[in-house]
Amino acid sequence: MGDAGKRIVVLGSGPGGYVAAIRAAQRGADVTVVEKGLVGGVCLNRGCIPTKTLIAGVDVLTKARSGDIYGFTVTGEVTPNWAYMQARKEEVVTQLRNGIHTLFKKSKVKLISGNARLSEPGVVMVDTVSTDAAVSQDAHALESIPRHEAAPAQKAGAAANIADVLRLEADAVIVATGSDPLHPAFFDFSQPSIIDSTELLNIESIPSSLLILGGGPIGCEFACLFADLGTKVTIVELMPQLLPQEDARAAKQFQSALRKSGVEVLVRTRLERVDEYAPDHVTVALEDGRTLTAEKMLIGVGRQPNTAGIGLEAVGVAMDERGYVIVNEHLETSVPGIYAIGDVTGGYLQAHVASHEGIVAVDNILGGRRERNLRFVPICLYGRPEIARIGLTEDEARDEGFRPVTGTFRFGALGRALALGESRGYVQLVVDHDSDKLLGAVMMGPHVTDVIHEVAVALEAGMSARRLGEIMHAHPTISEAVMEAAQDVYGESVHVAG
Ligand code: FAD
Repeated sequence: MGDAGKRIVVLGSGPGGYVAAIRAAQRGADVTVVEKGLVGGVCLNRGCIPTKTLIAGVDVLTKARSGDIYGFTVTGEVTPNWAYMQARKEEVVTQLRNGIHTLFKKSKVKLISGNARLSEPGVVMVDTVSTDAAVSQDAHALESIPRHEAAPAQKAGAAANIADVLRLEADAVIVATGSDPLHPAFFDFSQPSIIDSTELLNIESIPSSLLILGGGPIGCEFACLFADLGTKVTIVELMPQLLPQEDARAAKQFQSALRKSGVEVLVRTRLERVDEYAPDHVTVALEDGRTLTAEKMLIGVGRQPNTAGIGLEAVGVAMDERGYVIVNEHLETSVPGIYAIGDVTGGYLQAHVASHEGIVAVDNILGGRRERNLRFVPICLYGRPEIARIGLTEDEARDEGFRPVTGTFRFGALGRALALGESRGYVQLVVDHDSDKLLGAVMMGPHVTDVIHEVAVALEAGMSARRLGEIMHAHPTISEAVMEAAQDVYGESVHVAG
């Protein structure tokens, strides 16, 4: 059989799975996606998109509240309407989800709502194919299952089920089952006060107080969001500073911005025990003897891969000690014909990494020999201020044996940033002294989660900082800070004194 027409079954329809499926179908493969929840996975339904939609709302709220800075008077209090914010969030998510359904239909990707499990290499069983209201819109392709030689292995049982088990045969399987919030057994998640990120996103009303355990990116984004909504937020982090994986200078400045916005930040702090679970609050004791009480406590201490119960052990797919699927640079697992992409493979746990890996895996299934490229992964934090990073930080460059030099430009000296009233932060470029090549960038400030891609392109092109500094940038823009930082590497930014 040629590569076109190859039968590919994708487990999971997050940004890894759905992108892989569409790309494979575009290239002529016969593709079936099995999804046990809603298409779009964590990213679309309970991650990237819902958080950024709520954050966009809060941006407007804070701008409105600071109207006096811009020269207009706000009469009366500007207050959030949480129910409306939630409805808007759902609207955005639904629109995007419908978009994926349309793309699937147009590209003839078959979608099955159900729980997928590998029974042998190249055979996927789908349990409890459901017509449940939550997933029924996802069941649009069930009619076309016979094309895939799938047959009910068992007669349909309860009326709610179309079939209890389906059997799908595939030339290649892509495992894209993602990850879920980690629920340490230390906490009683049946208590209403103990919540994970999914529950916090869908919370019925804005909590009066929120304790966040874990100062990673997810915890910090929620801290900014709820602090701006008027919640009393406390973050407890074990490490010496928030965002332990972030560039140290950026993390430090972000931490002080958070404190200025009223968030209590407790670093080097260990939560010792839970003293009380009450219906409307939780009280915890810290190692230093202090106690903290909050209406809700977000447990934001990490994620766990969705690898249990999907037959990976049975077919011999190797996993690491934390349960993440082990893959090589081609996204191949230890079993020929089974590929894995995205969060389920560990590492970055970023939507764009999952999508990139999905495309690389498909190219390889269809006859290519591509390697995933994780040299330049943009990492963005949508807090107040935003942080964006790519390539090597100065410390990492030094650790890797480079002689790094840096160029920096502060937004306090940039026309566009001042016009926006958002002059906090900076752009820093890291450059190899010996070759003049760009190695990376760290940015903090307005719209840096978009601006970072200018550096992504320059890095991929192997550009020197000098060349980047020579490229004409429109004025006034936030991107000018990149040009100025590049010029500053050589002490040639006309807007940097001394
Ligand atoms: P997932 O999105 O987890 O999708 C996996 C899918 O597989 C799910 O739909 C699941 O239902 C399905 N599935 C699992 N098991 C089975 C099975 N047995 N059978 C059938 N289906 C199954 N990343 C960013 O890049 N930028 C951000 O701003 C960002 N913000 C985030 C905010 C929050 C609050 C959270 C929690 C995450 C955020 N992320 C962000 C991370 C991002 O959501 C994930 O990296 C991304 O969703 C991973 O994609 P994936 O395709 O690997 O898996």
